[in-house]
Amino acid sequence: MSEELNETALAEAGGKTRLYVTGDLGEGVAVTLDEGQTHYLLHVLRAKPGNLVSLFNGRDGEWLAEITEGSKRGVIATCRQQIDVQRGTPDIWLAFAPVKKTPSDYLVQKAAELGVSVLQPVFTRRTIVSRINEERMAANAVEAAEQSGRLTVPEIRTGVTLDKLLAGWPRERRLLFCDEGGDAKTMTQAARESRGGPCGILTGPEGGFDPAERAALRALPFVVPVSLGPRILRADTAALASLAIWQAVAGDWS
Ligand code: SAM
Repeated sequence: MSEELNETALAEAGGKTRLYVTGDLGEGVAVTLDEGQTHYLLHVLRAKPGNLVSLFNGRDGEWLAEITEGSKRGVIATCRQQIDVQRGTPDIWLAFAPVKKTPSDYLVQKAAELGVSVLQPVFTRRTIVSRINEERMAANAVEAAEQSGRLTVPEIRTGVTLDKLLAGWPRERRLLFCDEGGDAKTMTQAARESRGGPCGILTGPEGGFDPAERAALRALPFVVPVSLGPRILRADTAALASLAIWQAVAGDWS
């Protein structure tokens, strides 16, 4: 394929496979893809040298790259043309108590599609889940970023207790505490008031927050208790619904 990509190739590239890489991207930069990506391209997509893929790394925008070498040792794709400049996603964190019924993978995937920037598992007193697979969560975050067209991958943090989370919470970041116990402003209103500043959302486990946790949360100046309406939502529904409302009111959906 000639160095300049012709219109057809560019047009076709629209539906191309998007892959997240960690190395730098730029004109003529050759990127060696990892084992999983090599297998996927060579054996699932049966890609050949000359085919095109889209690469992004969370820093240099998105690049159309031509497969210049395809062997068992690893596929090498050489950047030919930048097709998107680097754009961030809104600065919204989701701190969530992992739940038994819904694997965190599902929550991570949906939250990534909804543009979350940090995912922070939190172990509260009533959290039944004691262990989470952070590696798997990170892989799900990458896959969701590739599929959803975002140019960044959400950061997956190591699980912490609620006390630790609050002790280390950046004071300037508003924490919207989804409190099913009532006596809270609506999520819509809280999201509106959070516009323009760093924000986080906190959702509890199947059994909710215990009274001492609710009191401790409500005593903190950066915590804003919010209601998600008159019905009790399952934990994963609450997390995704609150993210969607926030994006619509204060994020990049508005
Ligand atoms: N405590 C209830 C129970 O034991 O069935 C339900 C807890 S709910 C499944 C899990 C979490 O979702 C809650 O801790 C809260 O963060 C959030 N949540 C659910 N419904 C909510 C609502 N209507 N308003 C605010 N938060 C809600």
